[in-house]
Amino acid sequence: MLNILILGGTSEARQLAGELAGKASFKVTLSLAGRTVSPIAQPVQVRIRGFGGVDGLVKYLATQRVDVLVDATHPYAATMAAHAADASASANIPILALRRPPWKANAADRWTEVANVDDAVRALGTAPRRVFLTIGRQEVRPFAAAPQHRYLIRSVDPIQPPLDVPHATYIVARGPFNDADERATITEYRIDRIVAKNSGGSATYGKIAAARALGITVIMLRRPALPAVASVETVQDAAAWLDHALVSDADRGV
Ligand code: NAP
Repeated sequence: MLNILILGGTSEARQLAGELAGKASFKVTLSLAGRTVSPIAQPVQVRIRGFGGVDGLVKYLATQRVDVLVDATHPYAATMAAHAADASASANIPILALRRPPWKANAADRWTEVANVDDAVRALGTAPRRVFLTIGRQEVRPFAAAPQHRYLIRSVDPIQPPLDVPHATYIVARGPFNDADERATITEYRIDRIVAKNSGGSATYGKIAAARALGITVIMLRRPALPAVASVETVQDAAAWLDHALVSDADRGV
């Protein structure tokens, strides 16, 4: 039996856990940071909270006798990804990253790519805009530095305290969000700028497709650099990789 720790917080992590849950040869634990107030139910046992840095994760891997670490965190969870790579090296435990490929702009897209949230704030400019912020609750605070804009802010949990700007409207919702609904939201709120992360996948692509159709500029946060570890792009490939790891383990008589 292979004891697997999946670092999650994404739909792919949940899907992979579901895929493995039905196989007797895998024991799976899914780890969540604990950011979401009421996380979606998971198909395997869950542990919630940080590990306490690289050392804490190394200790966890040893005490829980983890055989394989799967980093299926969001592509913007760069700290956790780096800790996972470092901990796997120091504990000498194999690691697999499950990373969605980024979206690619096509000729009809109007993207302004920026390196970080502060640059996104600057990219909005000085003239008042109607801005749709879709980058998650943790990253909205810097937009208080640009109070001339009207904000529509969507997040899974409420923004508390509210952003310190005169005009902000909040939507609390969890994806997926389809093109038609995103188009309706953008039109209803007369949005002229969208601030987004290049999350990849289909669940949050609706706003990108809607922005293209409506000719709206997307201020796109570039992905952070992630550690160079073995990686796959799909849940199926991750499951196949783990099946292979199981066979290799058995071959070694472990
Ligand atoms: P981060 O900045 O990379 O990580 C900060 C700290 O949070 C880590 O050092 C770790 O604490 C803890 N942590 C992160 N992911 C964890 C996990 N799966 N299990 C246990 N501890 C975890 O992470 P983040 O960007 O805040 O993201 C937090 C969670 O939300 C992740 O699970 C990620 O998959 C999910 N998420 C993030 C985004 C995003 O845009 N960043 C979007 C959707 C979902 P210790 O150092 O104490 O171990």
